[in-house]
Amino acid sequence: MRLSHVITALDELYPPAWAESWDAVGLTVGDPGQEVRRVLFAVDPLAAVVDEALGWGADLIVTHHPLLLRGVTSVAATTPKGRLIHRLVTGGVALFTAHTNADVADPGVSDALARAVGLTGELRPMVPRPDDPRRGLGRIGTLPEPVPLAAFTAAVAAGLPGTAWGVRAAGDPERPVSTVAVCGGAGDSLLDTARAAGVDAYVTADLRHHPASEFAEHDGPALVDAAHFATEWPWLADAASRLAEALPPGTLETRVSTLVTDAWRLHHEGVK
Ligand SMILES: [Zn+2]
Repeated sequence: MRLSHVITALDELYPPAWAESWDAVGLTVGDPGQEVRRVLFAVDPLAAVVDEALGWGADLIVTHHPLLLRGVTSVAATTPKGRLIHRLVTGGVALFTAHTNADVADPGVSDALARAVGLTGELRPMVPRPDDPRRGLGRIGTLPEPVPLAAFTAAVAAGLPGTAWGVRAAGDPERPVSTVAVCGGAGDSLLDTARAAGVDAYVTADLRHHPASEFAEHDGPALVDAAHFATEWPWLADAASRLAEALPPGTLETRVSTLVTDAWRLHHEGVK
């Protein structure tokens, strides 16, 4: 299968026009004419992911996060990103990114997160797109039955890949949780949206101290904060299976990387 055909299928699942204007999605490394048989899915384009791709014999890596988001004047192998690009080119491995266009897809990044933390039934976007209200940022759904926040926090941790960061919650541990909003990745821009939606809990990542503590003072939804990487990882399996389904059976082998690419490696609660 030509890389150009795989890109056409990916672009149909995650149209590049849906990406934010500041984003950099699509093909970063690779020749559209090259053959693709094995596709590795990962959250972050890091050296360890390239090691995995080369070791497995992947022809294409599909990542959620872009390798090159800001302008560069050199890709010499004198920087981590330059070295990575050299290894990809030398190894014949293409790199493709679906980022904010995958965030707002239906199903997209937050649908996979919603299922991973146990939400069932219909999901609706936290911020529906005016032109297509079925898709947009974040998702709201319900648990099969209400559970205390402490149990829900444990369920979130069980549903996501383990990280040193773990899963933290703000709110009364006994508070019943039934309706939940989720946003994969950095979701503090949707704190007000979550409160206005009247949900019982909001699951996201990268919550800073002041917005989180001010939010908690409102006696509104509980906050559940996981590692950024962990909230986006569930999307990989969904994207891999949708890509495989979009192409003739048996033409591609897909694999989801299980490497933990969260930057944080150590965690200590401190000495009381
Ligand atoms: Zn992200």
